[in-house]
Amino acid sequence: MKKNLHRFYVPQKNILDNTVIFPAEHANHIKNVLRMKTGDYCLVFDGTGFEYELLLEKIFPEPEGRIMSRYIAGTPDKTRITLVQALAKGDKMDLIIQKCSEIGVDIFIPCKSERTIIKLDQAGAVKKQERWQKIAQSAAEQSHRITIPKVEPVTDLAAVLNEAKPGQMAIIPWENEKTTSLKQALNGSEARDIIYFIGPEGGFSEQEIAAAQKAGVLPVSLGQRILRTETAGIVVAAILRYELD
Ligand code: SAH
Repeated sequence: MKKNLHRFYVPQKNILDNTVIFPAEHANHIKNVLRMKTGDYCLVFDGTGFEYELLLEKIFPEPEGRIMSRYIAGTPDKTRITLVQALAKGDKMDLIIQKCSEIGVDIFIPCKSERTIIKLDQAGAVKKQERWQKIAQSAAEQSHRITIPKVEPVTDLAAVLNEAKPGQMAIIPWENEKTTSLKQALNGSEARDIIYFIGPEGGFSEQEIAAAQKAGVLPVSLGQRILRTETAGIVVAAILRYELD
């Protein structure tokens, strides 16, 4: 496999016997941004674990390539990781979604919480979700993931807490937690499905932590230092992947 080739996600239906026809939205990127030409090679993957090496035979109106080889791109991760991220200001959400997609978060649930600062109306929230989904896809393409992480619609913390899933391990890093560390919580854990909650810049309120606990979510400490919201989300993703896979 040539790791230095451009790599694109293409839905399965676009992969035919010997040819891949790219969805039209790839055309501008491939032609004008990457300036790829017929005769160039690239990689595509379909989210099921297969990857294809292509020889581009057409660029316009939609790029098309001949399949030169097909192989299994990797093995699925053992553990599914979901990040419930309280909306953070500015472009921090972009950063969190990009980095956590590289590291291996599978599902993002952006949520409003008591101390969320940014205001999003319904239309704004849908726009953001689309933008974040694209960021997750680009990060997955670039980092040679075999699947695309899913960005769920913006919701409320309470709604996520109401939907606890059986068999899922749930943790909420909280800077005021003094007894249980993340390390202890994970010690010997065989969790195959884990969800973690990260608060906004101002953190979670005592009431939110109490509600989370009532819903079966375990507060954990990440250590003596207070991490920024974007740092906390990324750091926990890396720790979970390291510990559980
Ligand atoms: N309320 C805090 C900062 C919140 S940090 C303050 O203003 O002082 C943002 C989020 O990162 C928190 O809600 C928590 O989920 C996580 N976090 C940061 N540092 C942490 C730590 N040492 N232990 C546990 N969680 C932490």
